Amino acid sequence: MVKTVEAPEGTSGRGFFVTSFEKAVGIARKNSIWPLPFATSCCGIEFMAVMGAHYDLARFGSERLSFSPRQSDLLMVMGTIAKKMSPILKEVYIQMAEPRWVLSMGACASTGGIFDTYSVLQGIDRIIPVDVYIPGCPPRPEQIIDGIMRIQDLIGNESLRRRNSQEYKELLAGYHIE
Ligand code: SF4
Repeated sequence: MVKTVEAPEGTSGRGFFVTSFEKAVGIARKNSIWPLPFATSCCGIEFMAVMGAHYDLARFGSERLSFSPRQSDLLMVMGTIAKKMSPILKEVYIQMAEPRWVLSMGACASTGGIFDTYSVLQGIDRIIPVDVYIPGCPPRPEQIIDGIMRIQDLIGNESLRRRNSQEYKELLAGYHIE
């Protein structure tokens, strides 16, 4: 059945749509994220569940995983990061083009988790900036989807000027990332 919507009184009936360029770019970006899964242990298994048919991350436009930092804009760190692995994680982040975002998934990536030991990095935010943290050991797929949606909110509302701002450059300089 075709339903006809009447034009408001006093209008021509022709529709129009107003937005800003920033908003349009934000909508396009947030619905076409290319995640790079940096999975080192059990949290990665939970991410596989999110990619399956039941949770279906494709609904959020994020099904195209990228294993090349050059072709990804969301670094998803999941699992324990040993200190010996830290330089590699940092290098992967540096190789990603701007704009890039980071999602820390699970207790281990965010704080070291149960591995409070000399050989484990006690949170990836000691070496790279993190945009969203997902708690849990491991987080449930619903939490991961919630984290992706929070990243989408950040992306959709981010100013196009932010990456060139002095504030952002100082943030990276604090992590010794030029
Ligand atoms: S947070 Fe828990 S599930 Fe995730 S990598 Fe650490 S020990 Fe494994």
